Amino acid sequence: MGAFTSKLPWVGTTIFTVMSKLANEAGAINLSQGFPGFDCSPDLVALVEHYLKTGFNQYAPMTGVPALREALAQKTEQLYGVCYHPETEVTVTSGATEALFAAITAVIRPGDEVIVFEPAYDSYVPAIELNGGIPVFVTLTPPTYAIDWNTVRAKITEKTRLIIVNTPHNPTGRVWTADDLEQLAALVKHRDIWIVSDEVYEHIRFDGRPHRSLATHPVLQERTFVCGSFGKTFHITGWKIGYCLAPKELTTEFRKIHQYLTFSTVTPIQHALADYLKNPEHYETLPDFYERKRDLFLDSIRGSRFGFQPTEGSFFQTVSYQAITDESDYDLAVRLTREIGVASIPVSVFYNQKNDYRILRFCFAKDDETLLRAGERLSQL
Ligand code: PMP
Ligand code: GLN
Repeated sequence: MGAFTSKLPWVGTTIFTVMSKLANEAGAINLSQGFPGFDCSPDLVALVEHYLKTGFNQYAPMTGVPALREALAQKTEQLYGVCYHPETEVTVTSGATEALFAAITAVIRPGDEVIVFEPAYDSYVPAIELNGGIPVFVTLTPPTYAIDWNTVRAKITEKTRLIIVNTPHNPTGRVWTADDLEQLAALVKHRDIWIVSDEVYEHIRFDGRPHRSLATHPVLQERTFVCGSFGKTFHITGWKIGYCLAPKELTTEFRKIHQYLTFSTVTPIQHALADYLKNPEHYETLPDFYERKRDLFLDSIRGSRFGFQPTEGSFFQTVSYQAITDESDYDLAVRLTREIGVASIPVSVFYNQKNDYRILRFCFAKDDETLLRAGERLSQL
């Protein structure tokens, strides 16, 4: 038997796992991996319990529980003014991760090029490469991470089949503007280019900014797989339930993949979420909830030598440590975990060439006391 040849030789353990493990070993405050440090609503737990105890424990339909698909279609229409048919255009998935993988797989054939804005969430590139696709990076840089649309235009070729969008953005927090949508629409309008839009932080954006879902722009909507997640919205990252909204033709192909990736996802939770979604307050309160936490964290490091611009969305704040040390961001993230007991994510890991702009990412989805303690420790530097 020959040696086993890896299909993803450059992939190791994700930075989120590495830093969370290090934080646990060091007894540090873990502001690295993005997950809430508080529990979800007891009402939601009670709903799940209800469905668990009343016989909703067998396979859900492959496409998702009808009530949840209907609730998602309704919410999308109310918020963004777009109708997705629950029967043919809404699919419930095992987290956004599965939705992203299925959407990328539905589009990409060997040799196809995919525009990826970096820094990029870590699941996109492996999904592209497993399908034989070629990531073509558009590099965004601090402090604004704004997109230079001339650069994007220059990178588009005959082989470009897909563009991956993420707004609000992990790790930078940047939120797309109406102009970004127009620029993208102008680029793809007369081309056979599809879009995967990762909108898992749709309800977490600040200072009155609206979420510009790609579903709101007709030219983009007709070619986009919008991928969402309940994990971020309802503080349930461990439940791994997400969804994909896409026009019928795209959804048909998406479901062919989803059907054999997982077939369907956990039944009682889908029923519970369908009920819980009916009250818009459950997601409308989220921007204020997280904006207060962002501001609390930023106030706690305002006297320090870290540089920052308040994050526009997501539950991540990036900070520059250029005024503090020359260390690489990875070395500093490890050292801060061990020495001052605060874990973060070095932003270089989100770049293909590990560009190090001396930036760390902190997750502020934690209780106030934890954020204040972390801020106090960081301010000692
Ligand atoms: N996309 C982004 C940008 C994320 O931050 C996350 C959450 N880690 C995901 C996708 C995956 O979401 P889920 O946990 O629902 O699979
Ligand atoms: N999305 C989370 C983050 O960016 C982590 C998800 C994971 O651990 N894979 O921190």
